[in-house]
Amino acid sequence: MCFRGGAASSVPKTRKRRSEQEFQDLLRRLELAVEASQIGVWEHSIGDDKILWDDQMHRLYATGRRDRMVSAETWTMSIHPDDRAQAEAEFDEAIAARSLYNSQFRIVWPNGEIRHMRSRAHFYEGPGGVPSFIGAEWDITADVLLNRELAEQKSVAEARAVALEESNARIEYAADHDYLTGLPNRRYFDRRLAELGDEDGANTAAILHIDLDRFKQINDKSGHAAGDAMLRNTAARISDAISEADMVARIGGDEFVVLLLDFGGVEALRTIAGDILERLSADIHFGPETLQSGASIGVAWGRAADAGNLLAESDLALYQAKKLGRNRVEFFTLKLQSDLQGERQLAEELKLALSRQEIVPYYQIQVDARTRQIFGLEALARWHHPERGLLLPGVFMKIADEYGLTADVDAAILNQALRDRREWERHGIVPPRIAVNISGSRLNDPQLIEGLARLNIPPHAIVFELVETIFLDDTDESLLLDIDRIKKMGIDIEIDDFGSGHASLIGLVKLKPKRLKIDRQLVTAITVSDEQRRLVASIVEIARALNVEVIAEGVETEEHARLLARIGCDGLQGYALGYPSSAAQTKALLSSDRRPVVRESAELQSAHN
Ligand code: C2E
Ligand code: CA
Ligand code: CA
Repeated sequence: MCFRGGAASSVPKTRKRRSEQEFQDLLRRLELAVEASQIGVWEHSIGDDKILWDDQMHRLYATGRRDRMVSAETWTMSIHPDDRAQAEAEFDEAIAARSLYNSQFRIVWPNGEIRHMRSRAHFYEGPGGVPSFIGAEWDITADVLLNRELAEQKSVAEARAVALEESNARIEYAADHDYLTGLPNRRYFDRRLAELGDEDGANTAAILHIDLDRFKQINDKSGHAAGDAMLRNTAARISDAISEADMVARIGGDEFVVLLLDFGGVEALRTIAGDILERLSADIHFGPETLQSGASIGVAWGRAADAGNLLAESDLALYQAKKLGRNRVEFFTLKLQSDLQGERQLAEELKLALSRQEIVPYYQIQVDARTRQIFGLEALARWHHPERGLLLPGVFMKIADEYGLTADVDAAILNQALRDRREWERHGIVPPRIAVNISGSRLNDPQLIEGLARLNIPPHAIVFELVETIFLDDTDESLLLDIDRIKKMGIDIEIDDFGSGHASLIGLVKLKPKRLKIDRQLVTAITVSDEQRRLVASIVEIARALNVEVIAEGVETEEHARLLARIGCDGLQGYALGYPSSAAQTKALLSSDRRPVVRESAELQSAHN
């Protein structure tokens, strides 16, 4: 090998003896090092077909031989066919350049095993100037496999990162969107509004707050699938009505909001809102069914920078739109805001009033049409307002209804009526039956029956007046069942405001009330219109046939009273017979046991005003 000849010739002659020993040591150390490193060494004179291989080379190539000279072919044929051309080309390049040979290739052992080799060689001129390479070669299979594994792991990790990112994006999308319609949701919308306050893009912004008018009914009657179809359809219709730059979001069950930027004036806004309203009132075909909802829209607009307030304002406008009869567009105004604030305050006061027992019954007498004897009282709610004095139902019942307090008012009146009744009895009075008004919401309260049972109401002491409309809306079985239970407790049922526009004989037959009360509107006209008189007469006739007694309301004059008695009414109630009065006044009236004085109408007007 080259170490021997080359290195020996460079040692000066004078130190030859000692150097010989050192040289041998060096050589031994080198051989040991090479052996320990498992690096094979080879040497090749160009032009010669032979290559000098040391033992380690044979071991690396698993030749099973030890011959020092191998043919060039032994080497090339050991190389993996796929790497051979490349390895040879690199060797040829090194020869041409007379420089470093550096290559990596696979070899195939005689047993078929594949090993990865690294080969490096230096160019030198051998004896006689023959161009030669001396090279080292070692097995890098373990490194290659390790690298390959690392690369694989890396790509797996990368793929996992991509998947993670994708699912992250999906989760984020889901968090920001409504699954049913695909529209942005409340969260997304709120964020967009907040951004509007920060950025200085648009100048003006408007919010259209849209609520479907009859979604609940459709959902209840036609099923959830129909409801879902309706919502998806609504989303599509609204989207179609606005431009790409605008945004529509679903922020609640059947609530949608549209955000418009720089919409170009109030008139343009009105047009867009009207267009959406029209689109939403069109029929939707769902299987064999035709669904139709309609919508109410509240609109608010202002500086884009103040967009944060717009949602609440549009909500107030929507509330107003629904209050005014639905299927319409209402704009937010400051007056609307203060009105609603006033109502809200009144509702708060009413809640307080209920707990402080400021809501009390006033009693209006009902008399027998022939004898004029008092046979009943109607309890009518009054509010002893601490500042505003005595308030009539017209002032607070609508608010009570809007804020869901009607049933509480009804209950307060019933409870107080029972207390008043006991108080009268303590004073030796035999109180007539007391009629209390029952709202639909109270009748629908599942706890009503239980609550009534606890009150220990004496039989036929109390009568419930139900407005006619209740039965038309819900003639469902459970309601009729409840009414039956109420009757069994000894509480008679009367139909109030009969003939006020929803007259339903079917309801009358189904409900079998004890009495019906002919609406004031009908009664008032009987003295001037024959037709009205005939109408009232036929109501009385039908009631007779059904074994239902009749009370006329709004009896304002003696003329009315006489006429109604002649037509066949059983009872009379009205200013002509008595005004609603406090419990104390009523007690005095009942103990005096006198017949109600009938005053003339002129006197009556001035007395009441
Ligand atoms: P309603 O049940 O039809 O009661 C009769 C109303 O007509 C009473 O008005 C009564 O004061 C008035 N009235 C009586 N006689 C005459 C008359 O000759 N001429 C005229 N023009 N009016 C007469 P009020 O007390 O203001 O009550 C109004 C409505 O408020 C009641 O109409 C009833 O629907 C409702 N309401 C009153 N109290 C209660 C209650 O405790 N619960 C519920 N749910 N509603 C109540
Ligand atoms: Ca009534
Ligand atoms: Ca009435």
